[in-house]
Amino acid sequence: MSLEAPLKSYLDGRLAKVVWESFGMETVGDLLRHYPRRYVERGKFSDLRRLELGEHVTILARVQKAQTRQMKQRRGTMFEVVVGDDYGSLNLTWFTPKGTHMRDLKIGVQGLFSGKVSVFRNTLQLAHPDYKLVEEDDDPAAAVGGYAGRLIPVYPATEKIASWKIADAINIVLDQLPMLADPLPIEVKARYGLTDLVGCFRGIHRPQSVQEHETARHRLKWDEAFVLQAVLANRRKEARRTSTPPRVRAAGGLADAFDAALPFELTPGQAEIGQLVEEELAQPHPMHRLLQGEVGSGKTVIAIRAMLAVIDAGGQAALMAPTEVLATQHARSIRELLGPIALAGELGAADIATRIVLLTGSVTAAARRTALAEIADGSAGIVIGTHALLESKVVFHDLGLVVIDEQHRFGVEQRDVLRGKGGTAPHVLVMTATPIPRTVAMTVYGDLETSTLRELPRGRSPIKTAVVPATEKPSWLDAAWKRVREQVAEGRQAFVVCPRIGEAETETPTGPEPDDGGDRRPPLAVLDVFPALTDGPLAGLRVEMLHGRMHADDKDAVMRRFSRGDIDVLVATTVIEVGVDVPNATVMAVMDADRFGISQLHQLRGRVGRGAAAGLCLLVTDMPEGSPARARLDAVAATLDGFELARLDLEQRREGDVLGVSQSGRRSSVRLLELLKDEDLIVDARVEATALLESDPDLAGHPVLAAEIARVVDAERAIFLEKG
Ligand code: ADP
Ligand code: MG
Repeated sequence: MSLEAPLKSYLDGRLAKVVWESFGMETVGDLLRHYPRRYVERGKFSDLRRLELGEHVTILARVQKAQTRQMKQRRGTMFEVVVGDDYGSLNLTWFTPKGTHMRDLKIGVQGLFSGKVSVFRNTLQLAHPDYKLVEEDDDPAAAVGGYAGRLIPVYPATEKIASWKIADAINIVLDQLPMLADPLPIEVKARYGLTDLVGCFRGIHRPQSVQEHETARHRLKWDEAFVLQAVLANRRKEARRTSTPPRVRAAGGLADAFDAALPFELTPGQAEIGQLVEEELAQPHPMHRLLQGEVGSGKTVIAIRAMLAVIDAGGQAALMAPTEVLATQHARSIRELLGPIALAGELGAADIATRIVLLTGSVTAAARRTALAEIADGSAGIVIGTHALLESKVVFHDLGLVVIDEQHRFGVEQRDVLRGKGGTAPHVLVMTATPIPRTVAMTVYGDLETSTLRELPRGRSPIKTAVVPATEKPSWLDAAWKRVREQVAEGRQAFVVCPRIGEAETETPTGPEPDDGGDRRPPLAVLDVFPALTDGPLAGLRVEMLHGRMHADDKDAVMRRFSRGDIDVLVATTVIEVGVDVPNATVMAVMDADRFGISQLHQLRGRVGRGAAAGLCLLVTDMPEGSPARARLDAVAATLDGFELARLDLEQRREGDVLGVSQSGRRSSVRLLELLKDEDLIVDARVEATALLESDPDLAGHPVLAAEIARVVDAERAIFLEKG
């Protein structure tokens, strides 16, 4: 049997339809790779105190009470069951119950119950839950199908299909499973002691022991890691096979002029990576390089030099940024840095000059037409923009280099779209300020070679960070605003960052969920904090707002005036998170800092202390000492090491988020693998997959693996299309 076999041949039509509708499962592999989220143990009941409102849950519990009663308001009866133990209980209710409900749910029986948690009269309940009774002991006589063992798998389920129905479907398939074509090469399995595939599917779906499902899990993780690394190795191989015009830096061109006029000396890292990039651009194969470096480490300068070299060689360069604010700022600061060499066709232009055009969603129709024309005829050497660059109307004359800033906001697929706009395959430079732990880099950016800028330009002063507990120590908050006023009095500027814009109540704040059950006040909003500050502690200062609901022109105007120093304090959302560069800004107060993720806070504070003056970042919070939220903030305050913080951050996130896979996670290729914990496995898988593709580049001897690779690539593409 092949994992690609259609489910329809094994399941009855109705069941096949439900799993398709609920999870998009089509093949045997789709179903067998729907792994249990956890296992419950017969007789060990679920902790009902930890149920969350609105969640779809599957719990194991014992019936404590059961009664039928007449409904008061309506005709008919109602069946009420209480399940639980000494520690917690849950009401189950059925209106106009069936006889089977009353027969099944007698006091003392245990079962799996599933449904959506709601509240009625202050008590948690499941209305019309689905259930399946579970025998007290392992009953060998009942040892057919799923629940023979002590461990009962609990699957991600929906209202349409309960966990045990998924188990039933899986069992139907498992029972018919003679042998499976295995994507892992025999030598790899032998080298790492990996067990056979069918056994593993049995082991994970109906384990007899914890040991058994752990062994199975290990091997199935290997599948994921190995196939993924093979996909990436394949991509790297394709890149090496692809040819592209070499872009050799010409003497006496834009790049030389830029270097000669640069107001500072390159750091050794900038010089070294710049050299490497230049050499790669001169190759007849496209460069695919990831440039990591802390905020302010000078990545953009490297990108500019590369873009100019490409223009000197006759090509064009595109720079894509995740937000309009950032794209606009890039355009402005790059124009400033380039001066006369970016003014082609304008007064005061240098002879060799090129043009910079900006293309975002909100440029006027006329500006857009001009921009498109200049991109198409090649007169625009540097094209800067947002996602707008991906639109099909954007056609380059000769796209030689694509630079992507702050990659974590873009998917691989978007990179590919932009890359496809050249006619020839352009070189790609991806820049990110979020330091990426090694295994994540290997997985998410595994098709890129990596360079890291480790030092900041000289003369940067380190940022001090302090946690300000606003409720415990209100005087600290007063002191914080005093610091802001002092800095402004010295001619400096400040940011006040809030997690929310305000008013429109549909928006959900970014960052982690609150840890305290969710009955907190809503996060502080720009629209509320702004008047509170201007009427209060910051009265008399030039304070303005910046947030995502403002018109693009207004946003730009505010940023411009802030850059010029015409605004003292900017009250903003995280629109300022990425890349905003105003060296005169020295203080930042982050309100409700606990509402932000660790990496986000690190990014945010990178906005202050970009000049010679020391930066100060104040993390304002209501979270009490000792809470996990406070611990996170203390961690951010304790270190400026972005790698360490990124690691902490990732530990608290789900793998799907790490990989940027869509929330539904539909058929994503990574389900079991934990990028941080499975480091050794990932490293081994990478070595093996790379070696295999060296020795068998077309995978002629490994057809099953080749099919798996094709499946993953297709799934990635499907997710991308879904996201639009
Ligand atoms: P990143 O993109 O890595 O956050 P940028 O390239 O925007 O950093 O650089 C941050 C600031 O530092 C900019 O104002 C830039 O002009 C300046 N800068 C870059 N390289 C150097 C250097 N070698 N010496 C001094 N200043 C530099
Ligand atoms: Mg930057």
